[in-house]
Amino acid sequence: MVDIISRSRWGARSPRHRVRVPWSSRTEFIVHYTEGPASQSPRSIQDFHMGKRGWSDVGYNLLVDDQGRAYEGRGWSVQGAHAIGHNRSGIGVAFIGRDGDATPAARRTIRALYDEACRRSGRTLAIRGHRDVNSTNCPGNALYAWVRAGMPADESDESTPAGVGSRPGMSAPDYPLPAGWYFGPRSGPVSSVSGYYSHRSDLRRWQQRMKDRGWTIAADGLYGPQTRRVATAFQREKSLAIDGLIGPETWGAAWTDPIT
Ligand SMILES: [Zn+2]
Repeated sequence: MVDIISRSRWGARSPRHRVRVPWSSRTEFIVHYTEGPASQSPRSIQDFHMGKRGWSDVGYNLLVDDQGRAYEGRGWSVQGAHAIGHNRSGIGVAFIGRDGDATPAARRTIRALYDEACRRSGRTLAIRGHRDVNSTNCPGNALYAWVRAGMPADESDESTPAGVGSRPGMSAPDYPLPAGWYFGPRSGPVSSVSGYYSHRSDLRRWQQRMKDRGWTIAADGLYGPQTRRVATAFQREKSLAIDGLIGPETWGAAWTDPIT
């Protein structure tokens, strides 16, 4: 089973409409790349597809980033907009990045999604790169070579996605601030550490951990509106005291609480 970061987790907009496709209609699995920066968020891809392109939703059924994290796009059972003439028969999975960016972790996740799709459909789906069915360079030469080789899963295990494999109970790094201090706005009292003057790498560590958990947050080590928003939403989700500040509990929960 693959952990898939749900639409609500990555902050998806609602689709304008959706067309259901039964598993009996699925016969192929089509690999894409977004041909954009690997740092691109699923939400910005969705915004592009729903805005400039005028589609009803993000085009792909699923997306995978270079950390090997899987994101729900339209999902397994909704018709996509990724390969002309193949949106009903094919499940479209996009790697977020450019040619050559797909890491072993990303490839492993794509392979795991393929296995999952075969399991759910009860048949062996044909493996295709987008260029097999439409006139395009997609999914780039490097990823396509791997697709052509049948998406081998037995690659060396050099990196594990940080968030996906983690389980509750793993221990958190020590809280880096003195008792009574917290990460908070620059305008706060001396006990409010914003990252601008000190502890920037510590705050970055928490932000990166939240990012690995699937939140949309820049790991810049600075406390701003986005970090406040994520901290607040996370506190609400985990039933912590809701103040948007990062004290020992909010710090620790980022490592010790299950990813939901
Ligand atoms: Zn494509």
